[in-house]
Parts: sequence; C-alpha cells; structure tokens
Amino acid sequence: MGGNIALDFVDTIGGPLVAKPEPIDEFLRSYEDLVMFGLKMGTLSERAARGLRRAASERPEEAEAVLARAREKRVLIEAAFRPVSEGQEPPAAVLAELRDFAAEAIAHGELTRAEDGFDWSWESSDELDTPLWPIAHAALELITEGPLDRIKSCGRCRWLFLDTTKNHSRRWCSTEGCGTDVKKERYVARRRARRAGSSSG
Ligand SMILES: [Zn+2]
Repeated sequence: MGGNIALDFVDTIGGPLVAKPEPIDEFLRSYEDLVMFGLKMGTLSERAARGLRRAASERPEEAEAVLARAREKRVLIEAAFRPVSEGQEPPAAVLAELRDFAAEAIAHGELTRAEDGFDWSWESSDELDTPLWPIAHAALELITEGPLDRIKSCGRCRWLFLDTTKNHSRRWCSTEGCGTDVKKERYVARRRARRAGSSSG
C-alpha cells in the first residue's frame, strides 16, 4: 500500500490521524506479525522466517521485547516522514535516531552479490531483531535518496504512501479504501442535504 518498505511499516497501524489508534487499528500484535510483514515485503526468506519463528518460540520474552521495539521504531520512522509529507523538515533529533537505527542494521548485515553489485542481506542473522534491519535500511535509503516530494499522507487516515502517479495527484492511501469511503460520505451528505432542502422548502 505504501509503495516503500519503510512507509508500509508505518502503515502497520491504521485509523484516523486525529484520533488515538484503537486496538483494531494495530496490525503488529505479535512477533509473528513482524515475521509476516517481512515475508510479504520480501525482506525475509521462508528459511529465515522459519528460523526466527523457532527462536521466538524458544525465547518468547525476547520476542515480546522485539515487538515493543518494532512499534517504537515505527513511531520513529513516522516522525521522520510525516513532516516530509507535509513539506516540512524532520527534526534533527529524529534524523539522528534514524541514523543510529540504520547504523545498527548495517552493523548486523552482510554484503552479498546481487546482479549488478552488492546488496545488504540479513539472511544469515539469527537475532530476533532481524525483521527490523531491512526496514531501517529502507528508511535510510528513502530519506537520503528520496523521492521525498512523492511522500504523502492519506487525506483521511494516518497512512503514509509513495505517490507514483505521473501528476502527483494521489490523495488517498487506496482508492478501494479511503478513496471509496470519502466518495460514499459525500454521496450520503449530498442526499441528506437534498432531503433537508425538500422537507424545509
Ligand atoms: Zn487512508
């Protein structure tokens, strides 16, 4: 939905921006959800996921702590990119924290051969933090390489996304979700206004 791993990670919590998120808006409810996120994004292989699941069942308390850390990092990444989506600069302290998070990721990564160069890989790490590293790296890449002018926030919910439309015209996280809801609400409001108009006049 977000079009970028870091923004998709921010979008693992939903609901309207103006309200405090409800429990139902939380998509990261267990360590397993973090593993699923990595599998969906393609940042974890099936093999790595199996290893992490095994380790999480052996060390449940550590897995819980990693989940809590993941949510903290989600707040950090949002703090970096929401201002950007509003044409503002992220606070210096947030940038410093993002750098530290990415430095941690790089310290745990390996350089592996890719088609036309080398790529960061966390494939052989058996630490429970592993699902976080590709997210940290994606956030660093996005903030350093952009396209920052394409980072937008949904006009209706708290989700951030990368606008890849030609004329930068995307306003909703998805046309099926918030885009449709807005259309429905406008329709209902118009009908209500018409009805009010005909009953009073
Ligand atoms: Zn939305």
